[in-house]
Amino acid sequence: MEEVVLITGASRGIGRELADKLSKKGYKIIANYNKSEEQAKKLKEENKNIDIYKADVSKREEVKNMINYVIKEYGKIDVLINNAGISGSNIFTDVTDIEWNNIINNNLYSTFCVTQEVVKNMISRKQGCIINISSIWGMVGASCESIYSVTKAGIDAMTKSLAKELGPSNIRVNSVAPGIIDTDMNRDLNEDDIERIKEEIPLEKIGKVKDISKCIEWLIEDDYTTGQVISINGGWVII
Ligand code: NAP
Repeated sequence: MEEVVLITGASRGIGRELADKLSKKGYKIIANYNKSEEQAKKLKEENKNIDIYKADVSKREEVKNMINYVIKEYGKIDVLINNAGISGSNIFTDVTDIEWNNIINNNLYSTFCVTQEVVKNMISRKQGCIINISSIWGMVGASCESIYSVTKAGIDAMTKSLAKELGPSNIRVNSVAPGIIDTDMNRDLNEDDIERIKEEIPLEKIGKVKDISKCIEWLIEDDYTTGQVISINGGWVII
């Protein structure tokens, strides 16, 4: 029976690449999206092993409906990839409660909420793999991106805690923490910004979505790695 993989935020960027790569390896993919309906529909058209589901993962009811749909249609969830996220920068003294709530809800609450709804099925089957996409900024902090950094550090803490709590149920939980990856999330950087960043990276290049998907493919297939934060960053952050 084919393994069922739920990927949040799979209409664009890292999530989309993951959906494409994993479906070609024979996994059944449920690609969640929220606003990018057209891109999601195109993804499904291009690949018959991909099903798509619209849900705002920062909303409990929508998450519940999505998980109920997946269990009803496919009977189980073997792998959960909490990838959906937004960025946001502002100087700390100017951050409003609205900005705080927006980034916390889209990045951290969504990871909590989706995971909570999915692990019920995994615990009952005593099997599962959860991969959370965090960031180097959760590891070392980013100036003017303090709230984003908080969410990613929180995700890494959740990863480590759940690895301990869910290990006895044979559920592995890991984080993948990218450095800078070429996706829409970085479209506001100009060429000079990119050059400056490259100078700080030992491998002197920006990462590609395939750099992240290769690591995730390995993590899914592995069976003894849990509670780890694996950072794919060209050497930008080494700790
Ligand atoms: P992206 O190209 O901007 O794509 C973000 C994806 O998240 C989209 O598919 C979007 O879906 C989805 N999303 C956002 N909020 C959502 C919500 N509430 N409900 C459902 N889907 C939602 O970003 P990306 O670079 O691929 O980022 C993916 C993950 O990697 C994020 O968690 C990000 O923080 C992390 N990351 C990225 C980088 C980087 O340099 N790119 C570095 C470190 C970490 P819709 O468009 O359909 O709404």
